[in-house]
Amino acid sequence: MGLLSLGTPLPWDQAKLLAREVRKHGIEQFLHIWRNMKDRQKDRLLWGDEIEYMLISLDHKNRRARLSQRGHELLSQLQIEENEKLDHASRTGEKPELEALWRPEFGRYMIEGTPGQPYNSTVAELTNVEANMKKRRDIVTRLMRDNETILAVGSYPELGSGDFLEPPHKANGEFSRSLFLPDEVINPHPRFRTLAGNIRERRGSKVTINMPIFHDVNTPRPFIDPTIPYERNIFPGDKEAKEGAALPDHIYMDAMGFGMGCCCLQITLQAPNVNQARRLYDQLATVGAVMMSLSASSPIFRGYLADVDCRWNVISAAVDDRTPEERGLRPLSKDRFAIPKSRYGTIDTFLGSDDGYFKPEYNDLPLVYDEEIYQHLVSNDIDDLMAKHISHLFIRDPLVIFEELLDQDDAVSADHFENIQSTNWQNVRFKPPPPNSPIGWRVEFRPLEVQVTEFENAAFSVFTVLLARALLAFGDINMYIPITKMDINMQRAHSRDAVLREKFYFRRNILGDDKAAEQATDDDGSDVVEMSANEIVNGSLDFVGLVPIVQMYLDSIEVEDSVRAKIDTYIDFVRGRADGSIVTAAAWMRNFVRSHPAYKFDSVVSSEINYDLVVALDEIGKGKRNAPELTGIGVSGL
Ligand code: ADP
Ligand code: MG
Ligand code: MG
Ligand code: MG
Ligand code: MG
Repeated sequence: MGLLSLGTPLPWDQAKLLAREVRKHGIEQFLHIWRNMKDRQKDRLLWGDEIEYMLISLDHKNRRARLSQRGHELLSQLQIEENEKLDHASRTGEKPELEALWRPEFGRYMIEGTPGQPYNSTVAELTNVEANMKKRRDIVTRLMRDNETILAVGSYPELGSGDFLEPPHKANGEFSRSLFLPDEVINPHPRFRTLAGNIRERRGSKVTINMPIFHDVNTPRPFIDPTIPYERNIFPGDKEAKEGAALPDHIYMDAMGFGMGCCCLQITLQAPNVNQARRLYDQLATVGAVMMSLSASSPIFRGYLADVDCRWNVISAAVDDRTPEERGLRPLSKDRFAIPKSRYGTIDTFLGSDDGYFKPEYNDLPLVYDEEIYQHLVSNDIDDLMAKHISHLFIRDPLVIFEELLDQDDAVSADHFENIQSTNWQNVRFKPPPPNSPIGWRVEFRPLEVQVTEFENAAFSVFTVLLARALLAFGDINMYIPITKMDINMQRAHSRDAVLREKFYFRRNILGDDKAAEQATDDDGSDVVEMSANEIVNGSLDFVGLVPIVQMYLDSIEVEDSVRAKIDTYIDFVRGRADGSIVTAAAWMRNFVRSHPAYKFDSVVSSEINYDLVVALDEIGKGKRNAPELTGIGVSGL
């Protein structure tokens, strides 16, 4: 989340009346930014990561691990320090010495950390990333109590199961109305509970999340979850579970917190200009699925082993605010559009750029967009693809409106634009510059799951940055596939052990230097093929591979030996994840559970197993326990 607006968020029945107004001003704000910033050139290739952590409270005596509500308290302390340093710097004119910035997230137990300032564009800087991430862990650790720790995995295994929260609370909150999650898991800033409440209100029911259960040898078939309080009767929505929302053979979840309470790793990259940002957006969108499969760290939900390894679909369903009409369950009468996807999901349209590789047939989803907004943008000199992108984002309603912030000067504020933009949670995000700022056009890469160790988080960050640098340096790389194929890839990437068991659609030849030849293969429809993660990442006889492209890029520039050696450890790690010589955190966690003496092979991750798992992950995270099978450190020369 960016900076939080302060004030009074409106409940849905009031907010919905202002949606049109917010959209109208949001579009004017975008037009101002576009006019002022579209010609920016030569911005530096700054970039930064975001890591989300969960604060855990460990009760060693009773062998229990719980999510701690003190995350919010810790965050306040971190931000006080941050503000003091910024104050000091502005008074003295010195450069602020910030090693990290701390931001709130949806979960009260969550903390998001970024570097104190973006990393610079040199390759040598890439060797500072892991140290900065370690520093972040140290900074938080200093403020923690002895029994507390921070953990970085996609989904917390026990979220919504048993007494997973410290201090404990009953699930009976007005905002989520969840059968499992108390509202106390939500960050106390009013923005977050309003988001949860307004999504539920807009949708007309609680959100419905069903992840397939991992059928172990003793898991009943069909699996009907005995832990769901089907007969609770506090809120009208309580009956939804019994009336079909909770699917057999699935892990049912019913609140925004199950999704936005997950952690992730995001990378924001500045491009030299808007065109290059558009190129990065399109090209990075197509590699997101395979990268997500390598990074999988979410195999357990609400105390059960799932048949998926990633959090993506959980979040998608957790914030799905579409009404029954929008979901196509009823004919349109009150609502404007039938909308195929949740506002959290894959992108629906490529942006195109001046590289000459985009073709209209790649945007093969019937795009839902606001015709009036589209026309207004086009009549203000916005090109077709950009106008489609923005008018597509703007089919959504603003979810949280602060009464005090309604009245904005559209020439200097981007609040209304960001309101819609930042609640379209997609696999890549096109980030226009804030008005009147030195910041340029950026793209955010969002599908990665967070990793247990700084080494792994640094490796994925550095690899992503190098891939983006290669894309910018070698203008002839072309990774376009049709959007519908990207969607299929993302679903495949989600499944258990996707990295080993799935194939992904990818362009047969991504070194598209010969555009005429490309055209020829396109015409017989054979330019997209299915490949394993290993083939895509490491290459094969028929395919160059992403790792070799990154290496070609590194070979093409001057890199000091020591820098290259360090970067090579990260590349080896990515290579190892793709070829299966090292496992994902999801596979590691699943294996830990299934090897635990208390596991009954019934898919249930008990509190006892959860405790041992959290302790083990914590030790790995702190470097106190070696897990070469996960990180590759200690094998293959790392
Ligand atoms: P959001 O949550 O909206 O994605 P954050 O502010 O939490 O945004 O994180 C943005 C990331 O972008 C951070 O890692 C930050 O270091 C990085 N960043 C900041 N300025 C720039 C810039 N000019 N170019 C690229 N990255 C930047
Ligand atoms: Mg975040
Ligand atoms: Mg952030
Ligand atoms: Mg964010
Ligand atoms: Mg982000």
